[in-house]
Order: sequence, then structure tokens, then C-alpha cells
Amino acid sequence: MNARPQPLVVGAGPAGIRAAEALVAGGLRPLVVDEAPACGGQIYRQRLMPDGRSTKDLYGSEAGKAERLHAAFVALEGRIDHWPQALLWNLRDGMADIAVAGASRRVAYDGLVLATGATDRVLPIPGWTLPGVFTLGGAQVALKAQGCTIGSRVVFAGSGPLLYLVAWQYMKAGVEVAAVLDAAPASAKLHLLKALPLDAGIVLRGLRFAAELRLRGVAIRNGVEGLRIEGEGRVAGIAWREGGRERRLACDGVGYGLGLRSETQLADLAGCTFRFNERDRAWLPQRDAAGRASVAGVYLAGDGAGIAGADAAERAGERAALALLEDRGLGFDRARAAALEAELARISRLRSVLEAAFPFPAHWAAGIDDATVLCRCEEVTARTVRDAAGRFDIGEINRLKAVSRVGMGRCQGRICATASAEVLAAATGRPIDAVGRLRAQAPVKPIPLAMQLAANGPEAAASLPEAAE
Ligand SMILES: Cc1cc2nc3c(=O)[nH]c(=O)nc-3n(C[C@H](O)[C@H](O)[C@H](O)COP(=O)(O)OP(=O)(O)OC[C@H]3O[C@@H](n4cnc5c(N)ncnc54)[C@H](O)[C@@H]3O)c2cc1C
Repeated sequence: MNARPQPLVVGAGPAGIRAAEALVAGGLRPLVVDEAPACGGQIYRQRLMPDGRSTKDLYGSEAGKAERLHAAFVALEGRIDHWPQALLWNLRDGMADIAVAGASRRVAYDGLVLATGATDRVLPIPGWTLPGVFTLGGAQVALKAQGCTIGSRVVFAGSGPLLYLVAWQYMKAGVEVAAVLDAAPASAKLHLLKALPLDAGIVLRGLRFAAELRLRGVAIRNGVEGLRIEGEGRVAGIAWREGGRERRLACDGVGYGLGLRSETQLADLAGCTFRFNERDRAWLPQRDAAGRASVAGVYLAGDGAGIAGADAAERAGERAALALLEDRGLGFDRARAAALEAELARISRLRSVLEAAFPFPAHWAAGIDDATVLCRCEEVTARTVRDAAGRFDIGEINRLKAVSRVGMGRCQGRICATASAEVLAAATGRPIDAVGRLRAQAPVKPIPLAMQLAANGPEAAASLPEAAE
């Protein structure tokens, strides 16, 4: 009799690790794949090589959680299969295509836990493609994983809790932080009072970051508008409007971001139903409280299914694994499942408050200058998108892609889909949910063409032209 295939966990961040742990506790041996070389995901990302920094240096107040999570993964050794540097680039016919060690492997699975996390959410501003401009997450990856900084005098701009965290981390690393430019008005921060009974620690930590930045002389400006990055060939400064006045600062690096967006492409390729989520202002794969997707045997956990943070990701990963065990008729702890769901509901309320304190400045989309590039892979400007929408009477994002090539490049819309949808909605006067979402296409991230053709069978591989001499 054939043994059932392994469950497959995509992502070895907080959600994926806790999912794998619970599957092992339930008697299964999952395969865990992650394109990163080491476990930890985004928040608990490990440095590329030892560099003298302590865990406290890297993760600050979250060092204990990082150590526990890394240790939990190490403890699974021998009871899971782990493929690091393995990119799951397609899901089809109930199988996964995984690029690993220079080849693509087709893997059967029985139970799929998608714990794919998030990336930065951006709305383009003039100068955002200049060398020296990084997303907030990118600026943090440089510091955390590579031990390098994006400049020697840096401005952090945008919105969201990550804005203050990354600015603080750069200041601690000895970088001159010239300013923090927050799109959220100061009045929005009053919402944080409502977060105190839900998680006082997280609010106090944020306030400490802001206080320490101010104490070190870092200017924190609220309600900034009209951000513009200036420079010839690379960043030389940043300009903005504040209370009707133009302001300007010199700097050689900019970290910019407006919160996070979920990585949902694999859920799309798996055939999951999507629903518009007002809070995230995004289309998200539908799931029940346990993490079950609309497709049987597919489970969604962590930021990849809706932004909720690392603590929620750990709990959602474990809860999704318990659902998988239950669906397989295996034993699972019902009381634990109920406790996890209660915790997730509390964190979700906290998340709503944070979203109100750091609202996404959707109104910026209408003001994006015509000449600003929206899709940097295909070099599509805001003007092209607006012209296409008007000329061809387009009100849907996939049609816009077909006509303008926006979202058709290497990133497959991971960076530009938010902005394109917002610009299209603003240009056509439609609500954002009415313009739809970009359908995911494989490969979800770039892989060598030969690898993709080989995965499609020997005939496709044979059709690859020989490289010109
Ligand atoms: C750049 C960045 C930095 C952040 N820093 C912080 C921070 O300092 N503090 C904080 O509180 N929150 C931070 N966040 C938010 C935080 O990352 C999340 O709340 C938390 O990590 C979510 O955990 P997760 O397990 O859902 O996803 P993640 O931690 O993002 O883990 C997802 C994992 O899936 C892997 N993956 C995704 N797609 C594929 C694929 N197709 N094939 C193979 N592997 C795949 C990724 O490599 C990643 O390791 C950050 C987010 C980003 C994007």
C-alpha cells in the first residue's frame, strides 16, 4: 500500500515553524520549504554569517521570542524534512514545483500549509526608483541579515509601526537618522489608547521608540504630504509638505513604506477563493477561524493570509496545523485550538486599532505625478495607466495589465499591484474593491527559463534555443 504523501509547509517563519511543530506533535513528518537559507522568516531573519552581533543586537525586545523560535525549529531536526533555499514557484494538479539546488522538483503533498508572509506596501512617489531608496523592510533586511546600512544620513518615511522600529534600529546601529516623516496625522495616534487594554507592551514599545528617537534629536513629523525624493543619479534629499509649507532635508538614504501586503500568489494558484478585506485594503484568500482555505486540504497561516504580526503568525500556524490533523482524523487538542482562536481574535482587534493609528494614505494615489513610474519592472508610468484606463474604458486591473504591461514583469505585480489598483480606482472613480485583483501567474518569482521548461516536460525543454555565442 502506498504511504500518503507528506504535508507540505511553505515558509519557515513564525507561522510555518509553529505549524511544522504541531504537525510533528500530531505524528506527521512535514516537508518544510523556504527560499531563505535559514529559518526565522522576516522578523526573526538570521544574519548571513556570524558577525559579532548578539541576538539582542539583532532583535531587540523580541530577542527572547527569536531565540525560542529558532530553537523550536532546530529541535525538529530529524522529524521533518527541511529544504532551505527552495522556492515553491507553482502549484498545479495537486503537486508543487519547487526550485531547489539548481533544478525544479515536482512534489506531491497531502495537506498544504501556506505560511508565505508579507512584503512592503508602497505607493510610488517621485524619486522612489533612485539608488539609495529602499523599502522599510528592505532597509531592515540590509541591517539585520547583511550588517550594512542604506546610507550614513537616512530619512525614514511612510507609515506603520515598522517606520518607527526601523528608524530606531538604524539609530541604535549608529546611523544618523535625519528625520521620521509619518504620513499619519498626529490625531490618528490617539487610537493607540484603545490598544492599551489589548496589548500594553506593544504600545509602550512603540512609544519608547518614538521617545528615544526624539531624545537623540531625530525630528518626527506627522501628517506629511507630497513626499518627493530628490537627487541626480542617487538620493540627495527629500522634500515634503507639512501644514501647507514645503520642507526639505538633505540625506543619502531613504527608507520608505506604507505598511505590509500579504503574499497571496500561491493561495491563488491553489485555487482558493478570495474576498476583499477592508482593513488590509486588499483581496485575501478566504479562510475560516482555524485557517482552512476554500480548497480542501489547503491551510493559510500568518501574514500571507492577512497582516496580523508575528505573534499572531505563530498562533495561526499552530492552529492551521491542528485543523490539518483534525481533517486527517488524527488526534488534536480541542482546548488548545479554542485558546489559539481566542488569542487570534484579540490580536485581530489590536490590529484594527493599529490600522486606525497608521491609516494607509489611499488619497495619495490620485496625486501621483503622471511621470512617476508605477511598475519599475516594465517601466510603466502613472500617465500610461491613466491614459489606458481612459482610452480603452478599463476599470479592471487584469485588463489594465494586458493593455499597459503594468504588473507583467519580474515581480509579477508584488510591488506595483497595490499602486496600480489604487491609481486605476482613483482615475475611474471606482471603489478600490471594484477594480479587482491581479491574478497570480507561475512562476511566482523569477526562476531560470530552462528550469521552467524542464518542469513542463522534455518537449518544452528541448524547444529552448541554444544561447548565442
Ligand atoms: C521585510 C520585513 C521586515 C519585517 N520586520 C519586522 C520586525 O522587525 N518586527 C515585526 O514585528 N514585524 C516585522 N515584519 C512583519 C513580520 O514579518 C511578520 O508579522 C511575521 O514575520 C509574519 O510571520 P509569517 O510566518 O507569517 O511570515 P514570514 O516571517 O514573512 O515568513 C514567510 C516565509 O515564507 C518564505 N516564502 C514565501 N514565499 C515562498 C515561496 N514561494 N517559496 C518558498 N518560501 C517562501 C519566506 O522566505 C519567509 O521566510 C516584517 C515584515 C517584512 C516584510
